[in-house]
Amino acid sequence: MSSTGTKLETPVSVESKTKLRALVLEDNPLDAALALRALDRDGFEVTADVVQDEAAFSKSLRANPPEVVLADYNLPNWKGMDALKVIRREGLDIPMILVSGALGDVTAVECIRQGATDYVLKDGLARLPEVIRRALREKTERGLRRRVEEDLALKIAELSRSNDDLEQFAYVASHDLQEPLRMVAAYTQLLAERYRGKLDENADKFIGYASEGAERMQVLIHDLLAFSRVGRKEVCESVDCNAVMKDVLQALAAAIQESGAAFSHEGLPAVWMDRTQVAQVFQNLIGNALKFRGKEPPVVSVQAEKADQLWQFCVSDNGIGIAPEYAENIFVVFQRLHGRSEYPGNGIGLAICKKIVEHNGGKIWVESQAGSGSSFKFTLPGRSRDERKEAQS
Ligand code: ADP
Repeated sequence: MSSTGTKLETPVSVESKTKLRALVLEDNPLDAALALRALDRDGFEVTADVVQDEAAFSKSLRANPPEVVLADYNLPNWKGMDALKVIRREGLDIPMILVSGALGDVTAVECIRQGATDYVLKDGLARLPEVIRRALREKTERGLRRRVEEDLALKIAELSRSNDDLEQFAYVASHDLQEPLRMVAAYTQLLAERYRGKLDENADKFIGYASEGAERMQVLIHDLLAFSRVGRKEVCESVDCNAVMKDVLQALAAAIQESGAAFSHEGLPAVWMDRTQVAQVFQNLIGNALKFRGKEPPVVSVQAEKADQLWQFCVSDNGIGIAPEYAENIFVVFQRLHGRSEYPGNGIGLAICKKIVEHNGGKIWVESQAGSGSSFKFTLPGRSRDERKEAQS
């Protein structure tokens, strides 16, 4: 006898048998013995506690956690399905199989819906071993899946932490580098002003290179800082893209005039974002459309259409285009398809657009062919996160 009930062990133990610890919730000792014999006949070596009520069940569950619970549906003082609640309360994942004299199909389906693993009728005990094997297999698979998911969650958390560290580093570095660089730029400029033509020809050239380098580095650091600032200190609000477009065109007025660009935008919507970020995306894309123009004056258009919960925008131009194999690369920091002497720039503009768009739950991509213009498409939210969640539920 066990402390919690009757201890039954199947009589013969053969090497090849699968050891199984079971907890049997059954008021009829003969039925319990029949179930265990069915298992013994089909390759199991079972050690089982047989109990009849909640107290004994809970005690055995804690003292000797089983691999499987076999529960009669009807008991004099308890219900088989209530055993499931105890198993859950203990935080255990143990398959529970109902072994019952009679169980209508509707009741059986309801029990499985509530969490019973399966059911076997007492006059069909030959099925029991296979049902248990399947339940154990599924439990192993569940465990594996859980471990993989936990592992993945851990890795994602690690990755996000190291990403945060990296972003913090980029931010601090670009921010703190500004000050000494300002000194270098200011003094090389002073050198140029005071000593141009007073030293030899080489000295003038060298001072020129130094000033140019310092200026380029200032632009680079300014852009890197803008890149690492995305997501910091933002104020999301409803932003009218038509108003943003007005500001952007004003900022790009000189380039528009110089290139003779034709520009159109129609009834753009409002988006729920930080205003500066919206402006930055449009300014970078339109600025590129002007910069990477072909022989003809640029024709640039901005359009928007609804795409589920988001707005899909398209900034298209008639410029030099991009070969499809570079369509993803160009969104990576410092990736450029041309030398600086052909087109000025440092390869951060599109990376900033991507970071802003993705930070706001959207996507950005380009549709283009070399030599035949580009269409930059991206999605932005029209409503706040909460409003979108509400609309979804
Ligand atoms: P930058 O403009 O400083 O080079 P970007 O990140 O904005 O950096 O762009 C990366 C590269 O993508 C550009 O160097 C250019 O080769 C390509 N590109 C971007 N916009 C366009 C465009 N509208 N038409 C053709 N090529 C483009």
